[in-house]
Amino acid sequence: MAARKDTTPDRVREETHEVVVIGAGMAGLMAATTLADRDVVLLEASDRAGGRVDTVRKGDYWINVGTQFTEGTGPLIDALHRHRVHLGTLEGKSVALSLGGKQVDTSNPFALMFRSRMTWGDRLGLAAVGTRILANVPFLEMSPDNRWANRVRAKLDNRRADFVLRGVKSELAREMVRSWSGQWMGCEPEETAATQFVFSMGILLTDPEKVDNLTLPEGGNQTLTDILAADLGDRVRLGSPVHTVEWTEDGVVVDYEDAAGPGRIRARRAIVAVPADIAVKIMPGLPPDHRTAFEAIHYGRYVVVGFFTHEEGPQRWDDFLAVSTPGLSFQAVFNHAAALRRGVRKPGGALACFAGGAEADRLFELGDEEIVARFTADLLRLYPELEGKVEPGILRRHPRVVPFWAPGGRATLATLREPLGPVHLAGDYLLDMPSLADAAASGQQAAERVLASLGAG
Ligand SMILES: Cc1cc2nc3c(=O)[nH]c(=O)nc-3n(C[C@H](O)[C@H](O)[C@H](O)COP(=O)(O)OP(=O)(O)OC[C@H]3O[C@@H](n4cnc5c(N)ncnc54)[C@H](O)[C@@H]3O)c2cc1C
Repeated sequence: MAARKDTTPDRVREETHEVVVIGAGMAGLMAATTLADRDVVLLEASDRAGGRVDTVRKGDYWINVGTQFTEGTGPLIDALHRHRVHLGTLEGKSVALSLGGKQVDTSNPFALMFRSRMTWGDRLGLAAVGTRILANVPFLEMSPDNRWANRVRAKLDNRRADFVLRGVKSELAREMVRSWSGQWMGCEPEETAATQFVFSMGILLTDPEKVDNLTLPEGGNQTLTDILAADLGDRVRLGSPVHTVEWTEDGVVVDYEDAAGPGRIRARRAIVAVPADIAVKIMPGLPPDHRTAFEAIHYGRYVVVGFFTHEEGPQRWDDFLAVSTPGLSFQAVFNHAAALRRGVRKPGGALACFAGGAEADRLFELGDEEIVARFTADLLRLYPELEGKVEPGILRRHPRVVPFWAPGGRATLATLREPLGPVHLAGDYLLDMPSLADAAASGQQAAERVLASLGAG
């Protein structure tokens, strides 16, 4: 018998809650956790919580195929401590450059310049780039209240990151800058204002230990998002994409959909914790200033292929958390097992190979098998000793990595920090230096503002 088509129009199920949070990435999870004593629901479009935090685990090892490292201060680190997540230390680990078959520690500029295989022109080019980056870093490390720090920052906010290449002829130096920008921000140096690029490169090139709490939580970055989502229980509604958020002074109306059909939530407050381009789509009533500020936010792009490996005994990548690999189909290898390497080395490992920016855009055009095949071949070119010891690659395509702004674009950001009546925003774009830590802090801050506006419940 043929199935009868249900012709009754979908009835919209309606519910009322005190607060609705939209998006279960780190920002939304921290917001809902801060509101856990209130009547809160968290709507998430996909079938998992965590957003850009994504970890694949196998035996003793894990690979972060989303957010790579945890770093920073504030609510993210507090939450890791509160939930007693063991933080694998990266102390004593550094960053390397693999060039012409030689791997050189970049935290030692002397070794980088004189032991790696490059011409004098390349050495001079890299010295010019390094000097321009390093001359600015001390100012970016100062308190934002410092007058000099503010001046340097304003100048960097208004110039493109490729200013470090002005007058540099060396093709290698140019490729290195493109590769660093691709691997740490997922964009090209011509696309972004210089601030984020100079800050991340300056510190990572010289002394990764200066990065506050640079760590790899045990079990991967997803350990914390898993805990937060589990604690929230059925208040997290997966597979529930939100179509529109509308508001008056008194409250919000959120239209979404789930397996049971369309749903509507009325709430006194909403926290919108989705990426900028999605926020614009689901909030058609945004005032023009907000729309302009959201549209100024761009995202880096990454293609990541993670590999579990089966080597035994010490390896030449064990002491590096990242190796830059110009000239290969990926720009860097991140070594997640570095945090586990203390004392006797356990067999096996976990490596994530990355391509960002224009390189990622080109890879997005290819099929999954082709990308994994290219990355696998290049990983074996880089480390031939892994032949026969590499498991099939695990691929992720990331159209959004961290937000960045074109020169001058960041000036509009302050608009987004003001609530839109009962709607508050949260996400990694809102605070100082886009990151997982900023996402967590923005979520907590949005929830605290909501609590203050609601009064005692
Ligand atoms: C590959 C990669 C590497 C990175 N490495 C680092 C790093 O080393 N260090 C660092 O600090 N940061 C890193 N980042 C950045 C970091 O992951 C992000 O800054 C952070 O995870 C952003 O969190 P968020 O909550 O703001 O957004 P997201 O994680 O994007 O969360 C938004 C959530 O909203 C959901 N959503 C979207 N649309 C809807 C809708 N219509 N309805 C309901 N839900 C919706 C999404 O599914 C998602 O779950 C990396 C990012 C990537 C992708």
